[in-house]
Amino acid sequence: MNTRPNWAEVSLSALQHNFRCVSRLTSSDVTICSVVKCDAYGHGVVRCSQALEEAGTEWLGVTSTEEAVAVREGGVKSRVLIMTGFWRGEEEAVLRHSLTPAIATVEHVESLERAAEVLGHPQKSVAVHLKVDTGMSRLGLSMAELPKFLERLKQSPYIVLEGIFSHLASAEVLDAPDAIQQIAKFREVIATVERAGLTPKFRHLGNTAATLARPETWNNMTRPGVALYGYELPFSGNGSVKPLGLKPVLSWKTRIIATREIPGGTPVGYNGAWTAKRATRLGVIPVGYGDGFTRHLSSAGRVIVREQYAPIVGNVSMDLSTIDLTDLIGADIGDEVVLIGQQGSSSILATEHAAFAKTVVYEILCGLSPRVPRIYTE
Ligand SMILES: *Cc1c(COP(=O)(O)O)cnc(C)c1O
Repeated sequence: MNTRPNWAEVSLSALQHNFRCVSRLTSSDVTICSVVKCDAYGHGVVRCSQALEEAGTEWLGVTSTEEAVAVREGGVKSRVLIMTGFWRGEEEAVLRHSLTPAIATVEHVESLERAAEVLGHPQKSVAVHLKVDTGMSRLGLSMAELPKFLERLKQSPYIVLEGIFSHLASAEVLDAPDAIQQIAKFREVIATVERAGLTPKFRHLGNTAATLARPETWNNMTRPGVALYGYELPFSGNGSVKPLGLKPVLSWKTRIIATREIPGGTPVGYNGAWTAKRATRLGVIPVGYGDGFTRHLSSAGRVIVREQYAPIVGNVSMDLSTIDLTDLIGADIGDEVVLIGQQGSSSILATEHAAFAKTVVYEILCGLSPRVPRIYTE
């Protein structure tokens, strides 16, 4: 039952529009792996995967086996790449659901081989994508280990190297020297793989920033995430990136549930962190940091009511926040309030919340708590 007036609207047509924008940008021999990790950046992994499949994605990228299984159980047939690999004990689920794991260690290879034996894997082949660390120093096989690892892989009765990939640390910094170095190292990786006599079908390096700004990272697969949800990154450094005309997919809305008139000088909310300077009409909304409405918006951010901006006053609390309605003639209980999204010519992007919270838009999107119901619209 979802009757609390606090909901997110997810526009599947905007998601599909964004997928098509990115597809049009890259050439037709570049396969898009649509990244739907972290519950599709908070948008809902199953419905978003279904919509992306309908729009033509052949690949989806996730970061947990659980999520990949949920996508399969949602009837999605597209290939699913578990970009972070799998954890001990998950290998049978990986095979049973025809998922494609990233691998980076001999242990990964051995456990897939064992699982293939146990399950009597019918095709006697398990496609994997090898992750190589080209400078992120997080996951991935080191380049020094690569030649030996490839020899081990060649001896495997089951494992087929279908892809090779890496991940950039600073793709959105347009003149970042480390990005240029990583791109060069990835070329070396491909050359090493080819010298070993292996010919992985897919080679991929790009996230959204690289997809938009660095065609040299496309190879023949690229992995955009945040762009699909309508956000072109805040790029920095020297250079420019042509905007793609993406549409934000998620709107977040609530309603005014109470109003009150207070005289000037009255403190509002926890710690009286804000005090009315004049006679003020307050509105109360049933949204707080428990929903992912960041506390950094306290006495700083704004919402939209009746197509106009209303400031957030006082501290955002767990379940409630207060807004100043004094200048909004007629605003009243029941009025729709836009937290993220558009109403008339007023709009608030998730990047605005990110700026107040001194974080990235990703954290705002995937921070939207599960208690906020997602409503899917066309
Ligand atoms: C998250 C992620 C992406 C997508 O990143 P965006 O910046 O959202 O486009 C691509 N590849 C990997 C390995 C990731 O973890």
